[in-house]
Amino acid sequence: MDCIFCKIIAGEIPSKKIYEDDRILAFHDIEPQAPTHAVIIPKEHIESANALNSDNAEIVAYIFSKIPEIAKTLGLEKGYRVVNNCGPDAGQTVFHIHFHLMGGDVLGKMA
Ligand code: 5GP
Ligand code: ZN
Repeated sequence: MDCIFCKIIAGEIPSKKIYEDDRILAFHDIEPQAPTHAVIIPKEHIESANALNSDNAEIVAYIFSKIPEIAKTLGLEKGYRVVNNCGPDAGQTVFHIHFHLMGGDVLGKMA
């Protein structure tokens, strides 16, 4: 499959890993938009939030259950922002669902 994030999971594209278990992977974004910017992905290929349903959505709860631990690893004690871009209008560029975890500074208001 021609998916950058599936290739990262497979180790075919290198990444700076932060956290990994049998279901998810967190790594540093290659083009950070904040002093600390991680990407958290499920190992299952799901295109976007639009492809979630009652059969596969539990992975989102699992990702959020691990976010406090990942944020702590990154030293984000003062807070962080979690973002999901869904579809072209939101600027989604990689069509494997992912959550941006950003912090390390006061981030300002969302648009
Ligand atoms: P999106 O724009 O789809 O919400 O987010 C995709 C993110 O993946 C972007 O922030 C982009 O910088 C990041 N990204 C794209 N390709 C790679 C890569 O090969 N390695 C890493 N670490 N991040 C990537
Ligand atoms: Zn994928």
